[in-house]
This record gives sequence, C-alpha cells and structure tokens, in this order.
Amino acid sequence: MSTANNARQASQQVDIAIFGGGSAGITLARKLKNVSALVIEPRTPAERDCSWALWADSAQQQEFCAATKGSWQQWRLIDHSTEIIHSSNQYRYTSLSAADYISSSEGELADGVVLIRAAAEDIVSTGSGGTFAAAGQNYSAAQLFDSRPPKIGDNSLRQHFLGWEIRTRSPIQNPQIATLMDFRVDQSRGLHFIYALPFCENRLLIESTMISTSLEDKDWYRRAIQQWLEQQNIEIDETLGEEAGVIPMQAVTPVDSNIACIGAASGAVRLSSGYAFSAIQAQIAKLAQGISHGNYLVPAPISPGLIGMDKIFNRVLVAQPELGVPVMMATARALDADGFARFMLGSGTLLDWAKVILAMPKIPFLKQVLQS
Ligand SMILES: Cc1cc2nc3c(=O)[nH]c(=O)nc-3n(C[C@H](O)[C@H](O)[C@H](O)COP(=O)(O)OP(=O)(O)OC[C@H]3O[C@@H](n4cnc5c(N)ncnc54)[C@H](O)[C@@H]3O)c2cc1C
Repeated sequence: MSTANNARQASQQVDIAIFGGGSAGITLARKLKNVSALVIEPRTPAERDCSWALWADSAQQQEFCAATKGSWQQWRLIDHSTEIIHSSNQYRYTSLSAADYISSSEGELADGVVLIRAAAEDIVSTGSGGTFAAAGQNYSAAQLFDSRPPKIGDNSLRQHFLGWEIRTRSPIQNPQIATLMDFRVDQSRGLHFIYALPFCENRLLIESTMISTSLEDKDWYRRAIQQWLEQQNIEIDETLGEEAGVIPMQAVTPVDSNIACIGAASGAVRLSSGYAFSAIQAQIAKLAQGISHGNYLVPAPISPGLIGMDKIFNRVLVAQPELGVPVMMATARALDADGFARFMLGSGTLLDWAKVILAMPKIPFLKQVLQS
C-alpha cells in the first residue's frame, strides 16, 4: 500500500461497490434495492457491444425482449455427412445486443445505486470491503464485488473467434434456423466451426470460432468466413460490424483474489462451451436475493460436478482434437432439442447425461477420467 493510499481520506462511503458494469456487474446493480451502491464501469454500452446468446425459456424471452436481436426455435449442427436440426418447444436460442442489455439495465438502477463511468483504481481491500478511487474521487465500501475480466493463461484452452454482421445481397435460405456449429471448415488448427445467426432474411451474424490453445491471425478467421459465405452462395451487400473475442475454457485467475468475484471472474464461463450468460443471471439472482437478507456470500455459478465433467471433455479435446467434431455431433444426435438446450445450460437431467455418456467414444474419455 502506498503512502498516498494510507493518507487517503474516503470522501464517500457506500454499502456496496461493484467493479465492472458488464453482464454480471450491471445485472447485480439493477437488482439492488434499499442499499447505497456504486457500479464502476469505464466503457459505454456502445463501446463494449457484442452479441450474447442463450437458450431462453418463455420467462427469459419476455425479460430480455428489449435487447433481443434475434431468436430461433430451431438450430442446427452440421458436418460433412450429417445435418442435425433441433426444434424446441421450451427454449428459443436468443441473441441479445450486449449494448442494449447494459444500457437498459443502466436505466433501471434504483435510487441510491449510482453508475460511475470510470475505471476503479488504487483498490485496497480490507475484509469484505475496501477503498478505491474513480474519476478523481475516493470511495469506501463495506462490501466489494469484482467483475473485472480475469487473467487468461497464454497457452490455455480458449474459445476464440472473429465475426461479422453483414447485410446480404439476396435473401438467406432458412432464416428461421440458427447455425450453432458448421464444421465444414478447416479443422487443421483446432476444433473450428462457423456460427451463423440470421437476424432476418438479409442480415446475418457470422463468426469463425476456434477451440484451441493458440490464437490465429485475424485474417485467418476472416478468410474462413469468406470461404463459408462463398460455399453458401451468400454475397455481402454491406459489412455492418466486426466483433472478436477470447473466452477462457480453463480455470481463470481473478485480478485480485482478495475481493469477492462475480461473473466470469468467479468462474461463470462453462468450460466446455464458453457460454456464461445464463450462469451469470442465475448467480446474480441468488446473490441479490441473499443481499436483501444480509447475506453477501457469492454463490458458485457452476456446480463442481459440472466443472469436473467439462474438464474431462476439454482434456479429451486437447489430447485428441480430431474427436471434437464427432463428439459435438454425437451430443446433438443423442439429445432432442430441449435436452440439448438443458445440457448446454448446465441443467441437463440424469437422462440427458446418460444419453450423452452412452453416445461418447468410451476409451478416450475413460483415459482422461483415469488420469484425473
Ligand atoms: C465477445 C464475447 C462474446 C461472448 N458471447 C457470449 C454468448 O453469446 N453467450 C454467453 O453465454 N457468453 C458469451 N460470452 C462469455 C460471457 O458471457 C461474457 O464474457 C460476459 O461479458 C461475462 O460477463 P462479466 O460481467 O463477467 O464480464 P464483462 O461483461 O466483461 O464485464 C467486466 C467489465 O469490467 C470492466 N472493467 C475492466 N477494468 C475495469 C476497472 N479497472 N474498473 C471498473 N471496471 C472495469 C470492463 O469494461 C467490463 O465491462 C462472450 C464473451 C465475449 C468476450
């Protein structure tokens, strides 16, 4: 701790401070009532826009409708030999605009909950609270929650992608189906697929997504997208935006392990799929409920059993990357649409799990189970 920090007088005291107003931070801030709280976030919603997708049940479809860019009752996975199309009764695969979700949440903060558009600096934690500075002011909070992005190991397994949102020259075929994974692309550098969400018949989000331990040059993903568009006879009328991201698929290290973490920093990213939005929503709902009863303990976003299963899955992928496509296709084939959605959401039933386990190549998985 520096002398300057020692000498600092906190000018404002609050019950709760949240570092980071992204998916977890702003959701928690929006749910807080009858407390004084600050959410500290340097970027505007537009500056950090991207697409957040989830399998939404009917209540979530309503809850998130203002931020929804597209939603599909049908989705597909496809490789060179098979196309698996799921049609769900219970869930819609739903893509949200992160910017719209965050800005509507920012607009719903209760009295006493204040957003500061700045980075949190000079953070000093003491017990569950601490002091910090933001936008030139000093603050002190009885409870800190930290959602700043965690550190991701350089050679760790990651999901990395680059995508374009495009307007197409001609109408897209089957805009009612979301393509979750099209494996008919270069598989030489890791598990690679195209993800394509038709927002309407001439607007498409298309991403080249890799699961591997090394990132590619941006042009590599761009070429994969161009090749896929050519194969599909889709011509670009206008490129409306580009988004890129890296999502951890191994345990992450929080920026400061002395502060209670929420969201991705607390391990909310599903290690086998990179999905986190639903786990974050569930974690934050429980946390906000706890806080209203004086319990500030952050609930684990994902059960230890599920983390264990995902780690085995990832170890199989690292040891035998060639199994990635057959394993993903076998999972989709073994389950119906609702089972697949539950499985991806981390709420698969025992029957869903039994179906998936029976469909897996046994020896590679047993090898990894025995090594764990
Ligand atoms: C491009 C991308 C797309 C994704 N798509 C999906 C998806 O489709 N579905 C899904 O389930 N998951 C998705 N994920 C994974 C996960 O849902 C997101 O990473 C999600 O944003 C995690 O929420 P979070 O609140 O933990 O972190 P974030 O949303 O990243 O929020 C952390 C915030 O901390 C802020 N911050 C940084 N430094 C400071 C500081 N010093 N002081 C204060 N604030 C600071 C950042 O500006 C940021 O807004 C995606 C991830 C990425 C990167």
